[in-house]
Amino acid sequence: MNLHEYQGKEILASYGVTIQRGKVATTSEEAVAAAQALTEETGTGWHVIKAQVHAGGRGKGGGVKLAKNLDQVKEISKQIIGMDLVTPQTTAQGKRVHQILVAEDVYEPGEAEIEEFYMSVLLDRAQGKNMIIYSTEGGMDIETVAEETPHLIFTETIHPAHGLQAFQARRIAFNLGLSGKAFKEMTKFVDALYNAYIGSDAALFEINPVLKASNNTIIAVDCKITLDENALYRHKDLEAWRDIREENPTEVEARAVGLNYVALDGNVGCMVNGAGLAMATMDLIKQAGGEPANFLDVGGTADAKRVEEAFRIILKDDKVEAILVNIFGGIVRCDRVAQGIVDAYKNMGDAIKVPIIVRLQGTNAEIAKDLIDSSGLDVQSAIEFQEAADKVQAVLNK
Ligand code: GDP
Ligand code: MN
Repeated sequence: MNLHEYQGKEILASYGVTIQRGKVATTSEEAVAAAQALTEETGTGWHVIKAQVHAGGRGKGGGVKLAKNLDQVKEISKQIIGMDLVTPQTTAQGKRVHQILVAEDVYEPGEAEIEEFYMSVLLDRAQGKNMIIYSTEGGMDIETVAEETPHLIFTETIHPAHGLQAFQARRIAFNLGLSGKAFKEMTKFVDALYNAYIGSDAALFEINPVLKASNNTIIAVDCKITLDENALYRHKDLEAWRDIREENPTEVEARAVGLNYVALDGNVGCMVNGAGLAMATMDLIKQAGGEPANFLDVGGTADAKRVEEAFRIILKDDKVEAILVNIFGGIVRCDRVAQGIVDAYKNMGDAIKVPIIVRLQGTNAEIAKDLIDSSGLDVQSAIEFQEAADKVQAVLNK
């Protein structure tokens, strides 16, 4: 689950990370009031208006703008609220902006000492350890830095039992070229950032840019957080921050009925039991010349009701030209699943307009195949993986 910048900053602040302060607004009037209140708190009259959407690169798309007085706050807020913000990370339609963050301007123009860094904390799955990635090249697209100047990106791997060690925080500050007060501030920043990451059971914290201000304080100017869905039950307060307007509507619907569904761009829908088999099925579809339209794990109980829910979710995507059902009957018997598919198909009447290829392997696979074959429905059966792939290919080439 992703968070908005303003939510992420709230987490950071609660762990003692210095942030660029701001207030959320949903109208230009609220924005002006927020700017006035901020001026009283911070003393600065300049503000940055920042679109709150789940996408990076907002600055490039015109979603982050500097306002030098209250008139400009009003003007810019009006422009940004309600706009469809297109950034390098959104689709061509962009993302509708429902709210903005009115933030204090932390960049004093003309100050030579200002520096921007990049820093993220994430789980490195290859090592099974958390890792801090950081760079002197902040404020830019980190993928570009990685491609063009990889030697400017550093990493620090955190031992799960020891946690972040003081020498590691110092090494980070050193590699970023800091000294004196800024060095000390950076070690504190890294420490607090790592605690925030661990404390909220996150999968990613990305701060780009981290700013060294002219007074040598270290400030989180931006904040992108992805929380681990599997740990959300421990963070009801954070889960309440979910903004479903930012999420894929079909994924939201699937979650509501307990299906593990991720929308993708392809043309072959898949319904599979088990995440590993789902991955293998997506590979199979690619080999057959198709592209998976989704990842869908129906889990252990593939009865008629569940199969029907899954069909309905898959068919919401009009790019789907065929559906491949790939079920391994280990605990659940194949004939029960086959009956579920037949019943679901009949229940749905003419809602299913695309061919369905069903591969059932495991307990009672032969009985299941007979059940499908004698149903008289537009469902093709297979027992072998390859056979299913060939049938998908044949359907796509028609
Ligand atoms: P992103 O484009 O979605 O990554 O959004 P950011 O929060 O990183 O903001 C984009 C850019 O706006 C930053 O890289 C900064 O260059 C600029 N920016 C952010 N905050 C301030 C600020 O307080 N003052 C000024 N002048 N620029 C800012
Ligand atoms: Mn950023």
